This record gives sequence, C-alpha cells and structure tokens, in this order.
Amino acid sequence: MFRESAGFVIFVTMKRTVFLCAVCALALISCNCEKGIKKLSPVDFTDVDIHDSFWSPRLEKHKTTTLAVCIDQIENQTGRIRNFENAARREGEHSGIFFDDSDVYKALEGMAYSLALNPDPELEAKCDEWIDKMAAAQLEDGYINTFYTLTGLDKRWTDTEMHEMYCAGHLAEAAIAYYKATGKRKLLDVAIRMADHMMGVFGPGKRDWVPGHEEIELALVKLSDVTGEKKYLDFAYWLLEERGRGKAIYKEGSTLNEGYHQDAVPVSELSEIEGHAVRAMYLFCGMADVAAHTGNTSYIAALDRLWDDVVLRNMYITGGIGQSANNEGFAEDYFLPNKDAYCETCASVGMVLWNWRMFQFKEDAVYADILEKAMYNGALAGISLSGDRFFYVNPLESDGNHHRLAWFGCACCPSQICRFLPSIGNYLYCTGDGALWVNLYMGNTLKTDGAALEMETAYPDDGKVRITVDNLKSKQLRLRIPGWCKEWNLSVNGQAVDATVDKGYAVISRKWKKGDVVELGLKMEAEAVKADPRVKEDEGKTAIQRGPLVYCIEEVDNPDGFDGITIPASPVFEYNEGVITCDGVKLIPYYAWDNRAPGKMKVWIDEKI
Ligand SMILES: [Zn+2]
Repeated sequence: MFRESAGFVIFVTMKRTVFLCAVCALALISCNCEKGIKKLSPVDFTDVDIHDSFWSPRLEKHKTTTLAVCIDQIENQTGRIRNFENAARREGEHSGIFFDDSDVYKALEGMAYSLALNPDPELEAKCDEWIDKMAAAQLEDGYINTFYTLTGLDKRWTDTEMHEMYCAGHLAEAAIAYYKATGKRKLLDVAIRMADHMMGVFGPGKRDWVPGHEEIELALVKLSDVTGEKKYLDFAYWLLEERGRGKAIYKEGSTLNEGYHQDAVPVSELSEIEGHAVRAMYLFCGMADVAAHTGNTSYIAALDRLWDDVVLRNMYITGGIGQSANNEGFAEDYFLPNKDAYCETCASVGMVLWNWRMFQFKEDAVYADILEKAMYNGALAGISLSGDRFFYVNPLESDGNHHRLAWFGCACCPSQICRFLPSIGNYLYCTGDGALWVNLYMGNTLKTDGAALEMETAYPDDGKVRITVDNLKSKQLRLRIPGWCKEWNLSVNGQAVDATVDKGYAVISRKWKKGDVVELGLKMEAEAVKADPRVKEDEGKTAIQRGPLVYCIEEVDNPDGFDGITIPASPVFEYNEGVITCDGVKLIPYYAWDNRAPGKMKVWIDEKI
C-alpha cells in the first residue's frame, strides 16, 4: 500500500559530504565539519492558527481537560511534584518510578505550547510554581534528578539504564518550550546547568556514557540552537558516536542488551531496526538533527536504510510500531500480531517526529504520508474523545478487555500526548527551495514574513481544500498529493491547472497576488486494503481506510455474531459523517474506538469466502 521505496533511498540534498571516521569520534568532533545538510525549514506552530472542524475540538479538549488531568495527576494523584519538593529539601522519600520527573517535564512542555497558542495567566502561574520547585531541586553542581537526590547521590551516573539523561533531555525540551512561549529563562538556566554538569562528567577525555534511553541527543541540539552554543551540539554528536562501540555494560542474560538499546553497532552502520521502539525513534531524530547541523551524511544513509526496514517490514497500517510487549519494541520482519500488538502511543508520536525530519531532507511526500498515518491513527488513538483517558498500548484487535485509563504508573504516553497535540501546527508547512510546502490539510491561517494564507477544508471528512493567498513571496506552491489519493484536481482562481507532480507534491509556479484562490480536490473514498502477503496474521483479511483514516469494527455497533463478521471480496461502501457501512457492517475510525460501551474491536476483518 506504499509507494515504491526504491527511489527515496537515493541521497540528493547535500551541500558537502563529510566522511565519518568510524574509529575516531574525537578527531571527528573537533574537525571543521559544520556545513550541515541542506533541508527545508519547518514553519513553527505559533505561526499557524488552527481553526478546523476535526482538530479544533481536540485542541479545545486538550486545553480544558487534558492539561487539568495531567496537572491533577502530577500534583494530587501521584507523588511526581512532591518528588521535586522533597529533592529541594534534600530529604523525604522518592515515590513512583525512577524516571517520573520526565512526565512532569513533558506535561510542562505541553502547558508551554498551550500558552504559546492561548495566553492564560493561571496556567502560566502554575508553570512558574513548578519551575520554582524544579530549580530548587537542582544541586549546586547542576545535577537534577529527584530519584537519585532522594535515594542516594553516591549511585548517580552508575547505571546507564536509569534514564538520568533521558530526564535531562525532557527538562531541556520543556525549558526551551517555556522560554519561547514566555521569554522566561529560569528553567532554561536549570537545563543549561544540567547540560554543563553532564559535559563536566562525560565527553572526550572524560567518562564514557551510552544513555540507555535516548532523547538527550535531540534535546541537546535544540539547546544548542536556542543558546547558540555549539558545545551542546558537539556533546550530542559525541553521545551518538559512543553507541555501538562496546562502551556500555549490560547485565548477563538481560533483555536490556545492546540490541534493545540500539547499541549493537555504531549508529552510522545501522541497517536493521531492533529493540525498544520509542528509544529508536528518539535516536533517529537525534541523528537527523545532528546530521542536519554537521553534514554527517552517513547518518542520513543509515536513516534511509532504517526507514525502509521500519516502514516496509515492521509497521502496522495505523502507523503503529514496536509490535512486541516483551521489549516494548521490534520483533521479526513481517511479524505483526493484531491482538498482541504493542504499538505504544509514544512510538507513533515518535514516527511523526522522525518522518517530519526525514521529509525536510528528502522533500518527498512519502514521509509526510507516514507522518499523517501515524498522527491520525496510531497517535490520536492514544487519547479518548473526552480528552481525559489514555491508551499506552494500541492493539489492532481486542477481545473487549483493553481500555483507556486515567493515567499509568509509567505515564510516558499521557504526557506525550499532552505535549504533542498543541504542537501539531508544526507539521503543516515548510519553506525552502523557492517554495511553500503544504504537507497536511486542516483549516488554518498561516502568517509568516514570506507567506500568509487561509486554508479551509473539512478534511479528513472531505478531500476539498481551498487556499486563499494573502501574501506569498515564493513563486512555487507545493501541495502534497497524499499516497492514498488516486484522483485529484487542482485549480487557481477557478481555472484548472495541469500541475506537474514532483515526489508527491503538485507544483504551481506563478507570481502570487493577494486574493488568489487555489482549490485542490482530493478524491476520498473508502477502500479495502490487503496486507503484504508475508504478514501471516492478516492472511485472508481486509482492512478499510478512507483518506488518512484507518477504520475498525466495534462490537457496540455490530453486536450480533461479531467474531464471524466478514467483508465481501468486492465491497461496496457507504460513507456518512465519519461512519462507513459495508454489507450491513458498521465501521468507525480506529482513533475513535473504545469511547462507548466496552467490547470487541478489529481492524483486520475476515474476507468473505
Ligand atoms: Zn509512552
């Protein structure tokens, strides 16, 4: 169901090739290789005002409900904020899991994005209150981690699996988000001191370290960008180069081994996906970000190989990845169980983050296709329609026992959704190569220096998109033709346009003037799709999708003989307000399942013989 992959492993956009010296990371990091790789520039979500029939109600729920749920859980239902209070006093117990600090940082990041879109003095005061507690929990030497502060600092930096750098990465991301939203730099200074602390302990000529859970790498690149300090980029690069060189120590017989941590081979040599899915996504984002700044093309070549392995052999139709609960990660190629699918919500968000970066290098719609698939299905399923219940695991079939919960002991997914939803405006537009790139379709007003326009659409209910130009300095407008779309039409000011299509983007070149209207019609029909025949689980089965949305059947809609439901070999579909019917069977979007009476659910449905 994907376009051929052969074309996009070719590496096309680079200013300069820098060869990676595999055995001598130190020499490489001190080399003058800061040219970077040419890529598109994403438009920031703060320049995109979303007013959309599909997304706006979800963003409103985020603001009114999800944030309050996260704050309540962090302050009242669990000991997460108390850990910071205790750490500030250097006494008291640590409660919860050793990496719980990261949930507070991620929720704070979501609060900061929300503030950037909707100023709210009460929410800002709550952020400041938390930030004061975080700053107070930081030690003199810059170290901040409530688990070790409260359980024994003599043990800090002794076990790479204990997520100290993972938490520091989320601290930095939250700090940068809040600094950008409010101009307040108290938490940014905390993050900087922690980064400086880590660089005082680890690095060239100091101690080795292979972070067990990646995340710090991409965060350090952000920190480098926001501070203008190259040393953080260098440290991210050094951490990436530490991997796969036998530097971490693993416990005998543990599943937490080199493969699980993406530490089996140097990252530039990675070809096959292995191990923990969320860690892999964060690693790949870090590699892409470091490559973008340093020009390390071997990282991009590795990411090309990995993308093929993930997307063509290990991804569900929902964009979900990490099929196995054993390692929260990858298993054999084409082994994609439905009922036992793990598909962590965070991993689907990770697919959005990674594919967004790949797109900026490759300028190819296949990456935006996967981004859209993961966003509208795998990631969006992670939160209830009411905005207050969450999936951690996202199977494609259920016996009726799998339900969203208010929170989790390990709450990475709710806090992930909390920071993801308000920042979806990041994925709509890019600029570069003399064009404005339109990647996703939702009602919005774009306003930047060089581009201002209004987009109206009922997508994904309907494939009609109307863009009214206010100001567009670049000559080219590039509109993504989604991979699922087989027929489309395009007009400018009512005149049909026979646009060329370049790597999945319809290209219109003209001198734009205020009031120009572009209309794109994407034919959106329900269709039956088959899995790759090597996926044994889906043999004799059909899945239904319409536009970017994958559909499923739920017992609440189909109470009679649910297990025996079949789809005809040549199905006829009816579509009405989000619901598809076929041969008396009612289907709803996968993201919306488990919002009514509990019951069974299936994405892959038996085909009628
Ligand atoms: Zn998660």
